[in-house]
Amino acid sequence: EAGRDAICFFDPAMEETANHKSQVLSEMRKSISDNEFVLHYQPQLDLITGKLIGFEALVRWQHPKRGLITPIHFISIAEESGLIIPLGIWVLEQACFEAKKWPSDLYVAVNVSYIQIERTDFLAEVKSVLHNTQLPPHRLEIEITESVLMTDQTPAFQFLMGLKEMGVKIALDDFGTGFSSLSYLQNLPLDKIKIDQSFINLSDTDDKTCAIIRSITQLADALELETIAEGIEREGQYKLLSDLGVKSGQGYLYARPMQVDDLPFFIESKRKL
Ligand code: C2E
Ligand code: CA
Ligand code: CA
Ligand code: CA
Repeated sequence: EAGRDAICFFDPAMEETANHKSQVLSEMRKSISDNEFVLHYQPQLDLITGKLIGFEALVRWQHPKRGLITPIHFISIAEESGLIIPLGIWVLEQACFEAKKWPSDLYVAVNVSYIQIERTDFLAEVKSVLHNTQLPPHRLEIEITESVLMTDQTPAFQFLMGLKEMGVKIALDDFGTGFSSLSYLQNLPLDKIKIDQSFINLSDTDDKTCAIIRSITQLADALELETIAEGIEREGQYKLLSDLGVKSGQGYLYARPMQVDDLPFFIESKRKL
């Protein structure tokens, strides 16, 4: 990678990671066709009313030998190798297909990697999946992170404008951890910002963090953007966040991501409240 003239050191640890990566990669290629991926769904709630508003789809790898593998172990490898493209299409199809079965006031949020946007016509993919599943566009939310620089010249920006035109919702994920958050709020056609877990985690113990969340919320209000807090684990955090005016949230306090079989019961139990 460093180029022909560069001198590099090669140590056994590097070999191990390289071997490990290529092993994961070859297994992953097969696992897409073998249908070894599954989606789990984590509820998102209105923090004021406690009402269920939607679910975030989170991918897992059901490995025949190693059991259920979390995305931190394979998403970056999938991105580097381009496998995120077929995987991402599968995730989108699956999530929309599932959401179509839910009550019509619930949406599904789907994570999309910048690789998918830059290397393929993912907008066309979204269009065709919505057409095939008959899910109304406003019931799909696309979560993107700030991992890529988005200016009005980049494919990512065009992608977001296209989604907006179709009526698909857009959430900026992991908000506050990227490098250009504020200019994004100014320029991108966003509907929602997702305040990163790292802030939520400290919200009930650290005054500075609390001040940051308050400012984010005020900013979002002024810009007419929705807010959602991710990673709410404690009652105290919930109280604080709802006091600060954060509109919605998700986290272990309410529910862990759940398998698809558990959804009907969960949705039903929330309806009865
Ligand atoms: P993310 O989009 O920021 O998702 C939130 C992560 O926080 C999820 O981890 C979720 O299970 C976890 N989480 C939810 N509530 C809590 C809580 O109360 N406390 C704590 N500590 N964690 C909580 P997960 O499922 O392991 O996913 C990790 C990351 O993998 C995601 O972060 C996302 O960036 C990526 N990912 C997951 N599914 C997909 C996918 O379909 N496509 C792409 N491109 N990326 C995905
Ligand atoms: Ca997300
Ligand atoms: Ca996030
Ligand atoms: Ca994250």
